[in-house]
Amino acid sequence: MCYAIPGKVLEISERTATVEYFGERKKAYTDLFDVTVGDYVYAQGGFLIQKVEPKEAREILTDWRELFFRLQETDKKLTDNPQNLYERANAIRQKHQGNSCCVHGILEFSNYCRNNCLYCGIRKDNKSLTRYRLEIPEILKAVDNAVQLGFKALVLQSGEDPYYDADKLETIVREIRNRYPVLLFVSIGERDLNTYKRLYEAGARGVLIRFETSNPELYTKVKPESTLEARLKLIKDIRELGYLIVTGFLVGLPGEKKGDVLRNIKLTASLGAEMFSFGPFIPHSQTPLKDAGSPNLTQMFKTIARARLMNPEAKILVTTALETLGKNDTSPLRDPVRDNGARQALLAGANSIMINVTPLQYRKLYDIYPERFGVDLDTQKHINQVIQLLQSLGRAPTDLSVSNS
Ligand code: SAM
Repeated sequence: MCYAIPGKVLEISERTATVEYFGERKKAYTDLFDVTVGDYVYAQGGFLIQKVEPKEAREILTDWRELFFRLQETDKKLTDNPQNLYERANAIRQKHQGNSCCVHGILEFSNYCRNNCLYCGIRKDNKSLTRYRLEIPEILKAVDNAVQLGFKALVLQSGEDPYYDADKLETIVREIRNRYPVLLFVSIGERDLNTYKRLYEAGARGVLIRFETSNPELYTKVKPESTLEARLKLIKDIRELGYLIVTGFLVGLPGEKKGDVLRNIKLTASLGAEMFSFGPFIPHSQTPLKDAGSPNLTQMFKTIARARLMNPEAKILVTTALETLGKNDTSPLRDPVRDNGARQALLAGANSIMINVTPLQYRKLYDIYPERFGVDLDTQKHINQVIQLLQSLGRAPTDLSVSNS
């Protein structure tokens, strides 16, 4: 199963190509490799990432054709005649973003962190956590596995771990880009801008970095090592370098004020986010916030729906934290077909999903909050579940669009 449909290049103008597939035309940047009119290509996140042999492309397109239109039909039926908040948000998603859904892989390569964020289980002062780091060959092996499984977009995430200095990170990104046709995101926290510049030059094209909360006082309380101002400046500077930005916030942080969630959504949009990533705060026993509560699933679905209504063009992620809340929801009203909340999130306006591709022996140790969804789920099984879920909702796991940068 491919997570992208090959398109045919119709036109190239400066660094942008017009690509056609099944009659639809979309634009994507061409700066990761040479391309000519008539080539078949894969694109992710608005970047062309790989040429495909014409014979192979035609075979894939033949396989996809019937399914492609069938999925669109299902999606349209499910968004007909919207009545409530969720249905309206889903209809807006359908109208502006179609039925495509990003399916990115996430590789957590280190759980060391120099910070002491009050909410986070991998904070420096959690001495009970077994720490791990993947060395470069292990990272490449994990990426190789992910690529074999079909991923075309990967996020490399870690705590803020200075062991991976700029040279090491650059080697990792360059090696991956030299070997694999993937759109690469990094999620490594607050590093100097020059490091981000070097990683861009090595071939990374996206950064996942949340601002966590738009409330400056709350930010300083829960992230004592940094300020909101510095984090936001970094996000803006990173975007200026040309990166796609995935950013967002925690919902239900203890101390959150009325109106913060709305301000968080607005701030995410104002940062030019390619993808919105916001998840529920989940308390971890080894943190100062261990006794606080989590928001409930309804709050999460409402936040997704509001974010969608306010940002028709956004990609909105179903986060693992939301799926964790869903997995652990024991309320008698729990809908047995809710799929850990992913189905309802997708029906409330979300249109992106991440699948954990970290080697299984390390996943449990990336313990940012307890009982994370997917820590013991075989990646291929998880992929199958996601594909099944997406197909039942008429969504196609494709991704081809130009960001608004
Ligand atoms: N070091 C990078 C950074 O600072 O952006 C990435 C790693 S950090 C652990 C990834 C995300 O985990 C954070 O942005 C935060 O929102 C989320 N996170 C941490 N602790 C959490 C908790 N208790 N509940 C929900 N999400 C949490």
